[in-house]
Amino acid sequence: MAAASLAVPATSIMGNNKTFKNKSSARMKLTWTTYDLQLKHVFTISGFSRKTTPVVLTKIEYDGLVGYGEASLPPYLGETQASVIEFLKKVDLSPFSDPTHLEEILHYIDHIAENNTAAKASIDIALHDLTGKIIGAPWHKIWGLNKMEVPDTTFTIGIDTDEMVRKKTREVLGDFNILKIKVGGEHDKRMIEAIRSVTELPMAVDANQGWKDKHEALDMIHWLKEKGIVMVEQPMPKYDFDNIAWLTERSPLPIFADESLQRLRDIEKMKGVFSGINIKLMKCTGMREAWKMRNLAEALNMKVMIGCMTETSCAISAASQLSAGLDFADLDGALLISNDCFEGAKLEEGKIIASDLPGIGVKLTQKLFK
Ligand code: MG
Repeated sequence: MAAASLAVPATSIMGNNKTFKNKSSARMKLTWTTYDLQLKHVFTISGFSRKTTPVVLTKIEYDGLVGYGEASLPPYLGETQASVIEFLKKVDLSPFSDPTHLEEILHYIDHIAENNTAAKASIDIALHDLTGKIIGAPWHKIWGLNKMEVPDTTFTIGIDTDEMVRKKTREVLGDFNILKIKVGGEHDKRMIEAIRSVTELPMAVDANQGWKDKHEALDMIHWLKEKGIVMVEQPMPKYDFDNIAWLTERSPLPIFADESLQRLRDIEKMKGVFSGINIKLMKCTGMREAWKMRNLAEALNMKVMIGCMTETSCAISAASQLSAGLDFADLDGALLISNDCFEGAKLEEGKIIASDLPGIGVKLTQKLFK
């Protein structure tokens, strides 16, 4: 579709009908604000430790309605609050008279600049929120999903001392039905044993590319299976496709791609290398592309999980809208922070369940925008 055709004012298509004319005079207004998420625990994954995550929150107003979005910016992904704001300043929504034309608007957004996937997601999520409010329904209903049929969310326990690992695990027992452990170093077996000393809950592991030798990785996966681990995320370096394919072929557990893929266009390359993919809104530019990724992966007979960064309930609620029917959900991001400024999807019996509010199903609980 030619983007140039989008600039045609709605009035010229719709003739002189007064109602349409009034409607078309409504304009979308984009504003944003920065916010720093405070993490409840110092978070350590293979190679990094941190106590905060910067985000940018977006708001798109249109005809008396408001849509909210979020860009979450963990340091290892390369976007910053400054780069998101620089991107948002380039966004001109004035040629678009109808926010529900998501395909057209997001095509334009995607072509403003390369990369900037979290910045793009902050627009995508706000537009989905707005569109759902215009339609008067939450996205799980628009997509025809049963919001209760979601997988249990994993809850992540970071790399830490045995004592801390046991303490963190005890804190969350009863709230979750599956845990996720960050592995990928010399402490892997010790971490797993420490958790196993307090609970028999199933566990997912995420090596974050930390294993370097495929034979050692395979031995480890066999050991993990004996310990009740049910899936492995990103075992080896992200472009090491040959060795990962070798591993997946022999692994008794499903192997999921995370760092190895970003967007829809990457999925074909994952087929035959991984058993499944981890979709994250911040990597793939938001809900619209995430929905397409889910459908393509399922058509390719691959497993699908939905993941997150540390995020407020804004982006988590957006992700929760499309989690029904997936193989795994890793949507604990808002539970890891102490200053969530949105109310939305909630933890219920170990699952993150979307609210019934229209759009992405959130309420802003603080006055953050001017
Ligand atoms: Mg991961």
